[in-house]
Amino acid sequence: MPKGIPSATVSRLVIYLRVLTDLESEGVSRASSDHLAAEANVSAFQVRKDLAYFGSFGTRGSGYTVATLKNELRRILGLTRPWRVIIVGMGRLGQALAAYPQLDQYDFKLVAGVDVDASKVGSLIGDLPVHHLDDLHELVAEQTVDIAFLAVPVDAAQAATDALVRAGVPGILNFVPTVVTVPAHVTVESVDFLAGLKRLAYFLQVAPHDGEREAAAG
Ligand code: NAD
Repeated sequence: MPKGIPSATVSRLVIYLRVLTDLESEGVSRASSDHLAAEANVSAFQVRKDLAYFGSFGTRGSGYTVATLKNELRRILGLTRPWRVIIVGMGRLGQALAAYPQLDQYDFKLVAGVDVDASKVGSLIGDLPVHHLDDLHELVAEQTVDIAFLAVPVDAAQAATDALVRAGVPGILNFVPTVVTVPAHVTVESVDFLAGLKRLAYFLQVAPHDGEREAAAG
């Protein structure tokens, strides 16, 4: 991936990939930047600008070949290689993530769970063997782990993160509603469900839903 790509562009590439995958499954073989833009809810200029970071993919006038652009985006996003994943914290969320059916659609391969609860360590949850956090170093080395899903309680999040960093895991998808600190060579992406909920509460509050608006107007 070229250096200096804005993070917002990467987020939109993920959306374009989803749109192209849907278009392909609907049997659509070509799409203009207008079409892609409308489906992704951005401007056609934005689509062309985002894609221009990586080369030229379309043909003026006839747009993009859906299958080709989809494959290019998969390659650009690093989704053509396998990624080996562990789940740290095999509680309610960790177990739900372990059962998520669409992970292997893009070669995200769950290899193990990690916990500190003696009743879970050494057992299989779903198909996943659960290891103790103290054994993380060996697990990461043996399984060449690329990514950890962090799903521990808030007060355990930084210590578990530090253990992941020491064990050499380069990427963390953090589901815990707190900020964890990592050195520059480790990447953290956060999935903050509570932050989304609070944003939703705010938007619902400042913009009453249609029923209320109609009632207010009437
Ligand atoms: P949980 O209490 O059901 O599970 C937490 C698990 O982490 C337990 O199995 C516990 O033994 C384990 N654990 C504790 N310390 C650990 C450590 N140092 N290393 C490894 N494992 C450790 O909690 P949950 O509901 O699964 O939530 C987990 C995290 O995900 C929380 O931070 C929560 O806020 C967040 N989250 C949960 C949900 C949800 O729907 N359950 C949704 C969004 C975010």
